[in-house]
Amino acid sequence: MHAPLTIRMHAADNVAIVANDGGLAAGTVLADGLTLVDRVPQGHKVALRAISKDAAVLRYNVPIGFAMKDIAAGTWVHERLLHMPAARALHDLPQSTAPAWVDEPLTGYTFEGYRNADGSVGTRNILAITTTVQCVAGVVEFAVKRIKAELLPRFPHVDDVVGLEHSYGCGVAIDAPDAIIPIRTLRNISRNPNFGGEVMVVSLGCEKLQPERLLPPGSIALQSGEALDVVCLQSQSHVGFMSMVDSILASAQKHLERLNARRRETVPASELLVGVQCGGSDAFSGVTANPAVGFCTDLLVRAGATVLFSETTEVRDAVEQMTARATTPAVAQAMAREMAWYDAYLGRGQADRSANTTPGNKAGGLSNIVEKAMGSIIKSGTAPISAVLSPGEKANSKGLIYAATPASDFICGTLQLAAGMNMHVFTTGRGTPYGLAECPVIKVATRTELATRWHDLMDLNAGRIAEGKATIAEVGWELFHLLLAVASGEKKTWAEHWKLHNALVLFNPAPIT
Ligand code: CA
Repeated sequence: MHAPLTIRMHAADNVAIVANDGGLAAGTVLADGLTLVDRVPQGHKVALRAISKDAAVLRYNVPIGFAMKDIAAGTWVHERLLHMPAARALHDLPQSTAPAWVDEPLTGYTFEGYRNADGSVGTRNILAITTTVQCVAGVVEFAVKRIKAELLPRFPHVDDVVGLEHSYGCGVAIDAPDAIIPIRTLRNISRNPNFGGEVMVVSLGCEKLQPERLLPPGSIALQSGEALDVVCLQSQSHVGFMSMVDSILASAQKHLERLNARRRETVPASELLVGVQCGGSDAFSGVTANPAVGFCTDLLVRAGATVLFSETTEVRDAVEQMTARATTPAVAQAMAREMAWYDAYLGRGQADRSANTTPGNKAGGLSNIVEKAMGSIIKSGTAPISAVLSPGEKANSKGLIYAATPASDFICGTLQLAAGMNMHVFTTGRGTPYGLAECPVIKVATRTELATRWHDLMDLNAGRIAEGKATIAEVGWELFHLLLAVASGEKKTWAEHWKLHNALVLFNPAPIT
């Protein structure tokens, strides 16, 4: 039997979470002499002192809720005992008021990457086949299988071939204002640094999203003198299915030859463009994995790299902290604008930010979205926020960037790919086998029990922090070094090893017809 272990995040907090595997039984006496009134599951909160009705329950020194009745010290504090606070209004927010960040540059760190003509750097050398519409997905999937079997073995310097399948392109209100989001997402994913600047397109022919609308002249850098490379399935030249497949293979061969001629070169760590997100969170997310990611975020920003943090519903309750950290009032206003847009988007569906939390989150100890958000934003570290991207926009500056996305793992990952992500960091407490074909995903477990049980899915165990076996800084540095090793192709993530690939999922707030 291990000694009872609880974790309090801030000296002012009146709750702590139970760290022991399996939780703690009623009657357990904690180190400070407090006796548990109830059994408290792992990751769940115990009242450290009596909390009277309507008083704030503080975690991270933030009111995560208000007591619905008197709560005795030693009681299990779960969501059924709490009223959730209202969301902070989006006016009169602090703008760029945080004290200046002590920005000590971190120099001398490099990785081996693929330098692209536009200056960006890929961590993988992948042929991506852009599609204009879902109608072509089956044909492209068939062709990709043949490319992998027949062509790829002849091009050993190419890592993979990926069809960029999606559900958009036709049957949509393509002129609606919000249609810009899925369209620019697809456009910018085609330009992801891991695809080496090679763009080939498969279209159907009659769809709304025509190739020249998806990739208008000037939107991509083509080899000099070349036209956009499009295989159109309805072209009169295609007689029968095999003719289409042969056309796709012939086109792919040309791009594979150019990709195969590329070699990795030593580039500074500042060329990393890391997207961070979490999924399947528990109460340890904000204690172990996310703080370690936040420490690593600060290292990356100090090294001159770019870090994207996202997931608007998990940032909404921390909006004041975020706008205070903006480098300029204009960045703070852009952040508030994205939050307001998302509030309205949720409102159209008669929902609000509280729709975010899952049964698994609650089983893992997270009472509500406020508690989840406070643990989620720690991934952004302490650096100033230097830019804001609307959904699907491409990053064009360095530093810490707020890329506004839904928290949905697949949609967030898809939008971060569009922003130009070349490495992905994903934290999980409940456990998810998440992976992307387009970009390496490093998965960080919040608990040792998960990291042990899923030993061939989790890349890093931040649970050691809760056990006192490693510090947040130590795990943060491990993640930094792991990012450089995986980016260099020296190491593969478990998702790459097993080829676990989730679908691209577009964020389409516009109407379907
Ligand atoms: Ca997520």
